[in-house]
Amino acid sequence: MKYSQSFIKTKKETPRGANSINQALLERGSFIYQVGSGIFAYLPLGYKVYENICRIVREELGAIGCQEVSLPVLHPSELWKTSGRFEEIGDELLKVNTSREAEFVLAMTHEEVMTPMAKEKVSSFQDLPFTLNQISKKIRYEARPRGGMIRLRDFNMQDAYSFHANDEQLDKTFDDFIDAYKKIFERVGIKAIMVEADSGMMGGKDSREFMVITPVGEDRILLCDKCGKAFNAEVKPENNKCTCGNDLKEEKGIELAHIFKLRTKYSEKFGLNFTDEKGESKPVIMGCYGIGLDRLVGAVAETSNDEYGLIWPENIAPAKVYLIDLEGSKGEEIYNQLTDLGIDVIFDDREVSAGIKFSDADLLGIPYRVVISKKTIAEGKVELKKRGEKETILTDVDNILSDLRK
Ligand SMILES: [Zn+2]
Repeated sequence: MKYSQSFIKTKKETPRGANSINQALLERGSFIYQVGSGIFAYLPLGYKVYENICRIVREELGAIGCQEVSLPVLHPSELWKTSGRFEEIGDELLKVNTSREAEFVLAMTHEEVMTPMAKEKVSSFQDLPFTLNQISKKIRYEARPRGGMIRLRDFNMQDAYSFHANDEQLDKTFDDFIDAYKKIFERVGIKAIMVEADSGMMGGKDSREFMVITPVGEDRILLCDKCGKAFNAEVKPENNKCTCGNDLKEEKGIELAHIFKLRTKYSEKFGLNFTDEKGESKPVIMGCYGIGLDRLVGAVAETSNDEYGLIWPENIAPAKVYLIDLEGSKGEEIYNQLTDLGIDVIFDDREVSAGIKFSDADLLGIPYRVVISKKTIAEGKVELKKRGEKETILTDVDNILSDLRK
């Protein structure tokens, strides 16, 4: 991508109203655009980051057998009355009335559609287990959105729902998700810890959260530095002691993902039953598993940065290379060369000072900066620098791919 033809327009100053590091940096780098309170659009660079995360999520969840579907955000209220959550959830659940039709609910989660939909498949134990996954919009009326991309009114989530004939099947899928989520966070490049949590409005018994520790987090986490266990402070064990006996240390965190053993809460409400081996009718046993994807973008931005700007982990960066040509003639050629090698490049071809180009390279957080200068290009070399590191190295233009991989 050539900067001059792109939608990128960086800002030097922190935009008014940006009250968190992630929002300030994402807006300054033109990754996101604020539409309203708690409502953001992804601009091209931000959408690339988001799509890179979605690709990783799809790969890891495909690997544990999830099948992908796409569900609507507009739900007939009847479904939420059947589950009981039409009344249970307060103002966070947005209700829509029209003069012509019955009322609707805007989806903040999808048990109310997934559970009756599963009847299309399930009649006998032989139809189980299976897991349906989706990446879709959710709407939640937050009274006070905050933290930039952390607490939103309109957001994208990965949410999966699993259906089982017995607890053993549910336990296996639950463990598969724990492993898959650990892989996802590792590939995304964020340090997430698993926490024992409370199920809240989702119901069900067992639940786990994945959290990133940061002082701006709104959740309190109790950590054990002896055995590595962590607890949400809401389910705090007695006396602030770990199950291993060690004292727990309190930290703050942002919740990135939450998984629940719903068991039969929703299948009973919607009459989702199956016939077991003995011919008995039983409610299907369910689990659900979700990652807040925009929040994940925000959490990476919040925790991976320095005084100059963002530092995107390589796997989700909007481009791999930021190319600056100070020499003035070879840029185009090297840009084409890198692009032909399949490397995503932002070529800063603007008529602006070198200083502006260098500071944008840092602000945008692109993993590698390649600089062409008169002195080095005469020897067929360019300068390579990794974002977040001080050292620059000289590398042969011909070897740049192998050097980038190192
Ligand atoms: Zn412990």
